[in-house]
Amino acid sequence: MKEQLQMIADEAMAKMEEVQDIKSLEEIRVLFLGKKGKLTGILKGMGTLSAQERPIIGQMANDVRNRLEDAIQKTRSRLAKKEREERMARETIDVTMPGTVIPRGKKHPLTLVLDEIKEVFIGMGYEIAEGPEVELDYYNFEALNIPKNHPARDEQDTFYINDKVVLRTQTSSVQVRVMEKKKPPIKIICPGRVYRSDAVDATHSPVFSQVEGLVVDKGITMGDLIGTLQVFAKSLFGENTNIRLRPHHFPFTEPSAEVDVSCWSCGGKGCRICRNEGWIEILGSGMVHPKVLQNCGIDPKVYSGFAFGLGVERTAMGRFNIDDLRLLYENDIRFLKQF
Ligand SMILES: [Zn+2]
Repeated sequence: MKEQLQMIADEAMAKMEEVQDIKSLEEIRVLFLGKKGKLTGILKGMGTLSAQERPIIGQMANDVRNRLEDAIQKTRSRLAKKEREERMARETIDVTMPGTVIPRGKKHPLTLVLDEIKEVFIGMGYEIAEGPEVELDYYNFEALNIPKNHPARDEQDTFYINDKVVLRTQTSSVQVRVMEKKKPPIKIICPGRVYRSDAVDATHSPVFSQVEGLVVDKGITMGDLIGTLQVFAKSLFGENTNIRLRPHHFPFTEPSAEVDVSCWSCGGKGCRICRNEGWIEILGSGMVHPKVLQNCGIDPKVYSGFAFGLGVERTAMGRFNIDDLRLLYENDIRFLKQF
């Protein structure tokens, strides 16, 4: 039995030398020290020993058990340390490795131009005002001196929600809403989306963006309008830009003018972009019609004002030399990347 114990001890120690992981170590422990293990088997057979032999073998079996338990404990620590080190090595971060490039977005050309426009007017002390895109017919047409059956309604045919509610055709509706609530001095721009029932082509879209401007105070004249638009045109299109006013008719301004800027591409000599005219139309403007002031409860004998409306798409197309308006809405990354 002594030899058996010695063999068991040697076998167990040899296995522990070779073991590579904690799970296999546990299997070794069960094989020798478990309830049905080899050492336990020896102890169970001790009943057959003589009274002299029993304490000697018993002592020896205990020694073997202690040695094995001690060895298992040490092996477990060694394996745990080894596994920890391997995991650390696996999870080491190499900070010099090149990272994954996350593509970075940028602003849409319409947003870029709108930001520039806002910046120019905020610099001149204007505030930004907003109004609803689903608008009452009254604010979009009637209050702006465009009664039912007025021919201007044909040019601005829109989408009707019902008889009294439309998708706004112009940001001018915000003028009325502001003047109703606020008394002069008023100095605002109103950027926003507008709608017309136009078919889509290279220069038309049923949805587009405008920036409306409105100044109302005592003693505002056409001179103030021209000076403001000059500053605006030079800021946006360059210091050498000139403006030109052509008489026009809008129901909500009197007198009214369409405003051209000297071509940003050729400087006025004539080129493809300005169709050899040297000038490019960018906005409509005029002195606020006395009836519109009156509709908003502002006395036209005391106050006067000017207003202008600017197409953001047209300005962006000019700034970036874009020849088809549809490109601005198709969200083709190859196109948008260029700006
Ligand atoms: Zn030109």
